[in-house]
Amino acid sequence: MRDAILGVVALAVAACATPRVRSGTGLRQVSYAVDPPAPGSWLLGVEATFEGSPSALLVAPDQPDTFGSVASVDAGAVVPAERRGTGWWVPSCQSRCTVRYTVDLEAMAASCGRMDCARRIGDAVLGTVDTWMLRPDPMGDAVVHVHVVGAQASRFVTGLRRDPSGGYVFQARELAEASYGAFGSFRSDDLVVSGANLRVAFLGQPLALGDAGALQWIREAASCEVRLFGHFPVDATVFVVPVPGRAGVVFGRVMSLSGASVVLLFGTATTADEQRDDWVVVHELSHLGCPSFVDEGHWLEEGLATYYEPILRERCGWMSEAALWSHFGSEMDRGLRHNGDPASLEQRDDIDATYWGGALFAFLADVRIREATRNARSLDDVLRAVLARSGDATHTARVADFIRIGDDVTGTDVLSRLYDSWALRGENADLPALWRSLGVNLRQGHDAGFESAAPLAAVRRAIGSGDKN
Ligand SMILES: [Zn+2]
Repeated sequence: MRDAILGVVALAVAACATPRVRSGTGLRQVSYAVDPPAPGSWLLGVEATFEGSPSALLVAPDQPDTFGSVASVDAGAVVPAERRGTGWWVPSCQSRCTVRYTVDLEAMAASCGRMDCARRIGDAVLGTVDTWMLRPDPMGDAVVHVHVVGAQASRFVTGLRRDPSGGYVFQARELAEASYGAFGSFRSDDLVVSGANLRVAFLGQPLALGDAGALQWIREAASCEVRLFGHFPVDATVFVVPVPGRAGVVFGRVMSLSGASVVLLFGTATTADEQRDDWVVVHELSHLGCPSFVDEGHWLEEGLATYYEPILRERCGWMSEAALWSHFGSEMDRGLRHNGDPASLEQRDDIDATYWGGALFAFLADVRIREATRNARSLDDVLRAVLARSGDATHTARVADFIRIGDDVTGTDVLSRLYDSWALRGENADLPALWRSLGVNLRQGHDAGFESAAPLAAVRRAIGSGDKN
């Protein structure tokens, strides 16, 4: 899960003693047939099939009280399932079972209210898809299939990974970062950006700038990403969520492991001329070009997005070179380590360390790679190589993979040395000396000025332009 929060908005299961039917095999297949509710109803119908469940207990981790009519279907006989705590007891699932149930989406949204659970937006309910999936725990490495059925199939939109043979497919472990999905009424359009398809779903009331205006905003931000990655990284579904009375884009979040999805909260009063001051959309879309680091590297994911967002906006002509360096000059020291902070970025989870500690790592890496290779290589090359070899945000990678690929593609040991000294051992950076060597004159209350004769002036210019030497 990656989001944009810096400085913008403050917007179990009982174990059971029943022996496994097939010891050691574990859950093999799960499929959900999902029947979206008709207009006027919020009752979602689901028929799920499980093979080799490790437990007879099927759980609903979020809001189990919004699940109803849970029953097993065996040879045409429908047998109500016994409720036990947050779950339902269906012993036949340990071999093979079919279970039907309903989910009251309106009640779920009312009792939760977060996008990552369920949130009512106009005549739609948005949430991560795992919220309506009754399932055994753990699910192991099972393959999960989702099919949308019934007369209201068009009233569901999701970022889940499409299955070429129909419906959607993903690995159960990817539910740790389940894609967003919405049931109900929405408007949608498709963008093709450098070979990738972006489905944009507009929920709730239209924005002042209209759907077409928001679509154009997203198209231009996506085009900026192409300047870094060479192409748009991956097909994705983007949810545009209105925030009444607000201006600008006030929040964004990416959920991508089971398929790329992005939620963007646009103020309803937003006008098209605010686009160039917005950083949220470029920040979120940039996440799609980097693999997901699980249980580590949150600082690297957010740091890369925080570093590249203003650079991409400058390269796209949304901001000036002077404004870019003024921004870095005023914000980058938020990433410095303070006395008493843990040495490792992995052990610091405050916003400054995660976003700006990571951005400072990216900045130092970019400058040192460019310096060591006379601008022949850069962090841009690292990101393109990592995207090509480890994949986009729908794939997982280790931080060690990023570092190894980075050193390999640049022909340097800049990343491994910096990772060890800066990210793990907590060495600090001398930012005033760095600004001087780059020829950046920071002036309080004014845009940055530049010294063209500074030793690393060519590095500074290349960061802004994205050009090689
Ligand atoms: Zn982010």
